[in-house]
Amino acid sequence: MVYTGRCACGAVEVRIDGEPLAVRQCWCQHCQKIAAGGPTHNAVFPTDAIMTDGITASDSYVADSGNTLTRSHCAACGTPMFSASSARPQMRVVRLGVLDQPHGLKPTAAIWTSEAPDWAILDPAMEQFPAQPPAPPAPQS
Ligand SMILES: [Zn+2]
Ligand SMILES: [Zn+2]
Repeated sequence: MVYTGRCACGAVEVRIDGEPLAVRQCWCQHCQKIAAGGPTHNAVFPTDAIMTDGITASDSYVADSGNTLTRSHCAACGTPMFSASSARPQMRVVRLGVLDQPHGLKPTAAIWTSEAPDWAILDPAMEQFPAQPPAPPAPQS
């Protein structure tokens, strides 16, 4: 499967040749900051399946796990696009809102639910993790 996508202004484009290893929503407090108070929605892909074109900017922080998380957004319009963990360079997170519709992907798990606001509505069909779940299985090479 090939997925394509772009930021809100179109300056950054992405093409992904492969299937996601996981699709999750994250309610951690860092994600609530960039997602305007809600969760981020994320598809985890093998890093080498992702090609990007355009200029992104990034910021990094040390997560509770001790790993450095680097988040990238369009340098022009600010659309959150990617995130990566220093612990898992072979995987990269793509924000679901970046992908062109209809991509057919939907979250099957909610993570960091312990940090969700009390008004959050969590689909009971999703697997729920109060904090960071185990990493998805490594991509096949
Ligand atoms: Zn943009
Ligand atoms: Zn998060």
